[in-house]
Amino acid sequence: MRKLPFDKAKLEEIAAKWPTPFHIYDARAIRENARRLKKAFAWNKGFREYFAVKAAPNPHLMKLLKEFDFGSDCSSMAELVLAEKVGNVGEAIMFTSNDTPAEEFRKAWELGAIINLDDITHWDWLLESVGNPSAADFENRVMCCRYNPGPLKGGNAIIGKPEEAKYGFTREQLFECYAKMKAAGVKRFGLHTMVASNELDPEYIIDTAKLLFSLVAEITEKTGVEFEFVNIGGGIGIPYRPDQEAMSLERVGEGIEKGYEEIIAGKGLKPLKLYMECGRCITGPYGYLVSRVRHIKNTYRLYAGLDACMSNLMRPALYGAYHEIIVPGKENSGETSVYDVTGSLCENNDKFAIQRLLPVMERGDLVVICDAGAHGHAMGFQYNGKLRSAELLLEEDGGVKEIRRAETLDDYFATLDFSAL
Ligand SMILES: *Cc1c(COP(=O)(O)O)cnc(C)c1O
Repeated sequence: MRKLPFDKAKLEEIAAKWPTPFHIYDARAIRENARRLKKAFAWNKGFREYFAVKAAPNPHLMKLLKEFDFGSDCSSMAELVLAEKVGNVGEAIMFTSNDTPAEEFRKAWELGAIINLDDITHWDWLLESVGNPSAADFENRVMCCRYNPGPLKGGNAIIGKPEEAKYGFTREQLFECYAKMKAAGVKRFGLHTMVASNELDPEYIIDTAKLLFSLVAEITEKTGVEFEFVNIGGGIGIPYRPDQEAMSLERVGEGIEKGYEEIIAGKGLKPLKLYMECGRCITGPYGYLVSRVRHIKNTYRLYAGLDACMSNLMRPALYGAYHEIIVPGKENSGETSVYDVTGSLCENNDKFAIQRLLPVMERGDLVVICDAGAHGHAMGFQYNGKLRSAELLLEEDGGVKEIRRAETLDDYFATLDFSAL
């Protein structure tokens, strides 16, 4: 069983102020992990992580990550605005969108973000969206393309086969687009791909980096375009299940360094900065959904009904994802009962766990659902009139800070005008 950064007494103290359910993030653990990531890639001058904002779009968490010079990986207007609010502007933003509206290209352009095109037609669309910039306007801008390796790269369970993914350029299109951009006056270039999601095999990530290194070498040779960086995307997984092992960031760092020495340094190419845009492995294991048992129900199965529901954490219902569940104060009581742990949404798949062996639970027990720090609160929704919970930050000195208040009924009704009935 994993060790929590709080015990039952501490949680009760927090819950007295912020009623369950709430999400709570462990600032110390997030910082330790960020330090470790930077260390694993310290061999690369200019290494940068762009935190995937969609994983945990909270400016307080983004600001915490900014202590480590993490940039923001954005893909929507709201995410661009969040990055701007925490002072991540210019090349601290990587804008990786798809099916992009003009106003988002305009906003990214105004902020000086690194713009990562998803499709060859988006080059013209970008030009049109931002008012046909001249070569001089591109003088200091960094342009990037998202590569989809198609059949050249095997599939990954969540994101699927690259060939079936809607994202990115084909190989041929890349050569054409970089040549076009160069002709238009672009001088600074990057290359991006994102082919994994929740991947636990370090070799998959290492191979992805090598694929990009080789492609950089080939594009440079054929078009004369020189690259400043490659961005290997996000997708480093976390061990949701107790029998899984965390990916060794050190192993990934070393493996990519070896590939770099062979392919980039070996061919005498210019030094290349390595970027990544992970979300899950940055905050995922360090966020918890804290809830309380509302009812125990014994019918054809034994149910523990919580005051949280799938609108607080959709992954189990959406992907059948496993999240470890801990009942604080009962860590040593033995796991002797089999429960379906449910929420109150009127959907039978609103279950945090199915047929899970857990300690005997009673009404009022606190329940901690682990690994909710990424793609957790962020995926929340209001279906069935369920409201999004508060987000709290557990500080290193043991203090607790509210970083987002819980929604109220007024928030839910804010877009309705009852007087017009
Ligand atoms: C979702 C996403 C990420 C982050 O993925 P994680 O699995 O959270 O690391 C990074 N880049 C892009 C383009 C994404 O869509």
